[in-house]
Amino acid sequence: MSGPVVRFAPSPNGPLHLGHAFSALVASETARRLGGRFLLRIEDIDAIRCRPEFEAAILDDLAFLGIAFETPVRRQSDHLADYRAALDELSAADLVYRCSASRQEIGRAVEALAAAEGRPVRRDPDGAPLYPGRGKVLGAAEEERRFAAGEPHALRLDMARATALAGPLFWLELGMGPDRTGGEIAADPAAWGDVVLARKETPTSYHLSVVVDDALQGVTHVVRGHDLVQATSVHRLLQRLLGLPAPVYRHHRLILDDEGRKLSKSAGDTGLAELRAAGASAADIRRMVGL
Ligand code: GLU
Repeated sequence: MSGPVVRFAPSPNGPLHLGHAFSALVASETARRLGGRFLLRIEDIDAIRCRPEFEAAILDDLAFLGIAFETPVRRQSDHLADYRAALDELSAADLVYRCSASRQEIGRAVEALAAAEGRPVRRDPDGAPLYPGRGKVLGAAEEERRFAAGEPHALRLDMARATALAGPLFWLELGMGPDRTGGEIAADPAAWGDVVLARKETPTSYHLSVVVDDALQGVTHVVRGHDLVQATSVHRLLQRLLGLPAPVYRHHRLILDDEGRKLSKSAGDTGLAELRAAGASAADIRRMVGL
């Protein structure tokens, strides 16, 4: 089946808020305007935080908003073999390595390195300490000891090798790119360093699953919040490395709270459940998000 395909891809790790409602409405309306298909994908690879009751609430909220999607719904936890196959492909190209350092160990090492070099801590586009590179956190000997002891490890992308292999990358932005304008955007995956492709506790990651699924589901238009615009650089890189087609992207404005902050999953007065309980209609919700 060809033609435009758009998806909404929530993670069932909490209740939906106005920001999710806006994203779902913009995505489904994009599909309708393009005369395309609209899919729902449940991004539940985080087995600890994702829960069936949140997934049920998402379905209920979408029905309330009058948003219809095709079935069956793809649930990421049902497709770990697809992500494994992509990881195997990247491993075979020698683009992946094991890393057993914890988040705290990385944070401490990055601070120590910055102090030793008399410069600020380097951070990724999300503000997390930038992983300094293979062997730089624990040292090769300690890493080997942990691997030999069978301790869990993550898998990271060797960003230097990956970007050298991929060459320059761009995406077509129909919404707001990193500088808030659209058009052809140059990807900068190196800003993320050696990103995690498979976590210690989950044999995949957000970046890997989203790229594999968008390709498998034939998604042509990725419509999502501006908070994910920088991640698109990593997604373009993985698409190129895995030989997958590049969708076009539309990053939309975010719904902010009264203090101008991004809404969170514990959103209280901006939660859809609370607003519905207080008697808000779907039309009220649309008005509240400026549609
Ligand atoms: N699952 C992601 C989220 O809930 C969205 C993924 C995407 O649209 O690429 O924020």
